[in-house]
Amino acid sequence: VIGGGFAGASVARELRRLNNALAVSLVEANATYTACPLSNMVIGGHRQITQQQFNYAALGADGINVIHQPAVNVDPERRQVTLSNTRKLHYDKLILAPGIDLDWQALQGYDKTAAERMPHAWKAGMQTTLLRDQLRGMRKGGLVVMSVPKSPYRCPPGPYERASLIAGYLKQTNPRAKVLILDSKDSFSKKPLFMSAWQSLYGDIIEWQGESDGATVTAVNADNRSVSTDFETLQADVANIIPPQKAGKIAQLAGVTDRSGWCPIEPVSFSSTLQPDIHVIGDAAIANAMPKSAFAANAQAKLCALQVTRLLNGETPVSGKLINTCYSLVAPDYGISVAGVYQPREKIWAEIDGAGGVSPADASLETRALEATYAQRWFENLTTQVFA
Ligand code: FAD
Repeated sequence: VIGGGFAGASVARELRRLNNALAVSLVEANATYTACPLSNMVIGGHRQITQQQFNYAALGADGINVIHQPAVNVDPERRQVTLSNTRKLHYDKLILAPGIDLDWQALQGYDKTAAERMPHAWKAGMQTTLLRDQLRGMRKGGLVVMSVPKSPYRCPPGPYERASLIAGYLKQTNPRAKVLILDSKDSFSKKPLFMSAWQSLYGDIIEWQGESDGATVTAVNADNRSVSTDFETLQADVANIIPPQKAGKIAQLAGVTDRSGWCPIEPVSFSSTLQPDIHVIGDAAIANAMPKSAFAANAQAKLCALQVTRLLNGETPVSGKLINTCYSLVAPDYGISVAGVYQPREKIWAEIDGAGGVSPADASLETRALEATYAQRWFENLTTQVFA
């Protein structure tokens, strides 16, 4: 398994749970994993970054061979993975779960250096605390500009949760400041719920503009923190630029990405449609209607482990259904959610109509508070299952 995030760590554990005679190696670049879900609460000042961090000791105790080295190449013909220390690993089945890479070519002016001044905070860790600290240091009455890419990207509702928690922080500490969301699309996950919650909780602190308003960001300049659309150039005090994304680079090196930059899969077994004996799960995979979420990554991992175990036993994969739920915190005590159920249909992961839904528009504040509790419990349950 390459990648020890929600997808890769889950699949490694599930493989050993299903068949403890399997030799499972997990190749993960970092010794500490910093989780993205709830990282917007770190930015809003409600959690510490250390509460987002996990290690791999429990996976080692499960009998998984955890190797903390970046994988630098995959040779599908020889069925070999090369690590950065030149060591080679042979596989019968390879599961790729490398998550995302930010597409540094996609937005004019936005590269790794620019991200030091205009953080994306779309991979949790230093970037998360950088954005938090920039908000803390912002002048009174300042302007926070957020740029949101077109779909698909990691965590569809994540930018709007972030805008909410930033607004909550500003309301307490810097009430004349504003958050302007420049979005490359007109619709987004749970839009009516977010919009009405913003109105009631944050008044006019958050302003959202979509593609039809000409809000697609076309260039940025890190030197003066300016953000440009086709129509205007805005001066930001803090700029959170979430750029377009693609599958983690090792997927491209393995030859499992298509022109979109993501990995096409056969939905029942998650096997790559481009290379034999390689499966792709989590954010890197094209799972069609399933969003790129930690919930989905973990669910895909369990099903993929079952299918790989069956294939190794000479059995055929069995079709399964998967669930996803994405909670978003509009405030620490105000949660909303969207849930969906998915199944393979005509070579894609399709949503089953009527099986999911979103939080009711007219829910009471007690219900919103309860959903906020569910969000935090979900994170505790998931991270316990994956890392403890
Ligand atoms: P990752 O978690 O990114 O893991 C990939 C791992 O692979 C990394 O540890 C990386 O180091 C490793 N890796 C990559 N390449 C290599 C290599 N070549 N060699 C070795 N290791 C490698 N999801 C939810 O379900 N609920 C939420 O509330 C939620 N909130 C979010 C909020 C924010 C702000 C963001 C940004 C995301 C949020 N998500 C949420 C989405 C969630 O974080 C991702 O969907 C999830 O992390 C995907 O898991 P993954 O395992 O595919 O990728």
